[in-house]
Amino acid sequence: MSKSTNMKPRVAFFDFTGCEGDQLQVINLEEKLLELVEIVEIASFREASSAHSDDYDIAFVEGSATTPHDAERLEEIRENATTVVALGSCATIAGINAIRNSQDFEAVKERVYGGEGDLFESWSEAKPIGAVIDVDYEIPGCPIDRQEFLRVLTDLVRGREPKMVNYPVCLECKLNENTCAYLRDDICLGPVTRGGCNSICVNGGTRCWGCRGLVKNPNENAACDVLEEHGLTTDEVMNFYNLYFGWQRTEEVVQ
Ligand code: SF4
Ligand code: SF4
Repeated sequence: MSKSTNMKPRVAFFDFTGCEGDQLQVINLEEKLLELVEIVEIASFREASSAHSDDYDIAFVEGSATTPHDAERLEEIRENATTVVALGSCATIAGINAIRNSQDFEAVKERVYGGEGDLFESWSEAKPIGAVIDVDYEIPGCPIDRQEFLRVLTDLVRGREPKMVNYPVCLECKLNENTCAYLRDDICLGPVTRGGCNSICVNGGTRCWGCRGLVKNPNENAACDVLEEHGLTTDEVMNFYNLYFGWQRTEEVVQ
């Protein structure tokens, strides 16, 4: 994994458009962080250290790409890194940044910047980083699950292929013996959302909002029918879907 075989792999973290909550999750590993630095060397991690080096093997990239400058930075990262891992919803599926993709761009700029919108160079769409450069692996979630991050990083260091969960949140929710949100007269995107979070939101008494993105081959029509059966109009269903699925629903292939 390391460019130099006798050395620990060098890891760098980068942030684009997002709240940096995923890097915070890494910092929140606390005592596990000490185990982490035994197997990797940190080359760059702005949230934790002012040190920076362009010599790294694994790049974790958080946030969506939204500007031409982001594309240049991402290409540089791709060139430097052996392995690029997209970190969190904004990086893997454009996350809530993609809400703007279905809106009038000029109106969005006006709302955010008033009359100054033209001072900021920006694409009309927020993109996941996989739409700009090749990405080797993805860790979904808003924010990421700390254990999943550790598992992926350990796999990479040990030379194993990290596996991505590909079953819906409902499966974990049932294993956790939760009362289904629909039986509580609530609504939930668990049937079409990629699991791996241990259905944490439903365990806590709320619903799945879809932050880990669409599971492969979701039955969206059936899910929309269920939402409508529970009294949502088509517009409301689409708003619910667009919270996290805005980018994926415009793609032909859901990975
Ligand atoms: S609460 Fe949501 S995730 Fe859980 S079983 Fe019902 S639909 Fe699925
Ligand atoms: S339950 Fe849904 S919204 Fe909550 S963390 Fe899991 S995928 Fe995200």
